[in-house]
Amino acid sequence: EDLPDHDLAKDFYLKYEVREVLGKGVSSTVRRCIEQDTSHEYAVKIIDLTSEKDSDFETEELRISTIKEMNILRMCAQHPNIIELHDTFETSTFIFLVFELCKKGELFDYLTEVVTLSEKRTRQVMRQLLEAVEFVHSKHIVHRDLKPENILLDDNFNVKLSDFGFASVISHEEELTDLCGTPGYLAPEVLKVSMYDNVPGYGRPCDMWACGVIMYTLLVGCPPFWHRKQMYMLRAIMEGKYSVSSPEWEDISEHPKDLISKLLVVDTKKRYTAEQALAHPFFKREEREEKPEF
Ligand code: ADP
Ligand code: MG
Repeated sequence: EDLPDHDLAKDFYLKYEVREVLGKGVSSTVRRCIEQDTSHEYAVKIIDLTSEKDSDFETEELRISTIKEMNILRMCAQHPNIIELHDTFETSTFIFLVFELCKKGELFDYLTEVVTLSEKRTRQVMRQLLEAVEFVHSKHIVHRDLKPENILLDDNFNVKLSDFGFASVISHEEELTDLCGTPGYLAPEVLKVSMYDNVPGYGRPCDMWACGVIMYTLLVGCPPFWHRKQMYMLRAIMEGKYSVSSPEWEDISEHPKDLISKLLVVDTKKRYTAEQALAHPFFKREEREEKPEF
């Protein structure tokens, strides 16, 4: 028999001591928490199913999408570069997702602090990200919201891919037709599906485009597609027009530029897969060949 609802929430609060806020979304708050029995620290994403929801229907929609996120996390969370889901609790008004804690926070904040990453650091981050994406794709899952805010760093600055809120399981490559994600990271085929009739749906390659945007941003500290007027930005994305001619690019070697050019490809059939990207010469260089960093 189901327990009365308040007891289910109480179960969570009996098992975990809740601490400070780590991040906030539209209908969720992420907080640090401590498991009483073990004193281990975790991060709990508390999803308020009723927040800013005017109807039971919307509450139910959010419950369904959160359960989808939970199931996808369970399919993915056994990879070293994917956030681990430790525990879950569900009530009629809240869902609690307890994750491993990423003490160093978002790659986004780290990048804001350091502005750019060296080629060596970019190689380390991108290798781990691509390995996570390769794993997700091997499970026929598309993440759809890859960006530095959703890439977390643990104590040792290892990459932990997180936020599977838009992730979807696909049964064929051109299945997805809804516009979701974050403007600057949207692949051309995702934009096109929302703008035109009679274009195919999209699938895994949209994540590879986002990897290209992320890699570009890590190296020079600004995104490849950006314009004050969003319409211009969206046009540049659809044409795949970006530049590596700014002064920051002069000091960057050919391999990373070449890999980016294999990811930011408008034609999804020609765009590199995660597996192809990991086989690119950019990742072949031995660490001991690296120049010392200053
Ligand atoms: P949303 O779907 O609302 O974007 P996320 O799952 O991306 O929710 O979490 C929001 C923010 O909370 C993240 O961007 C990050 O700053 C923080 N956060 C989430 N999970 C963790 C974690 N396991 N460890 C540390 N911080 C986290
Ligand atoms: Mg997020």
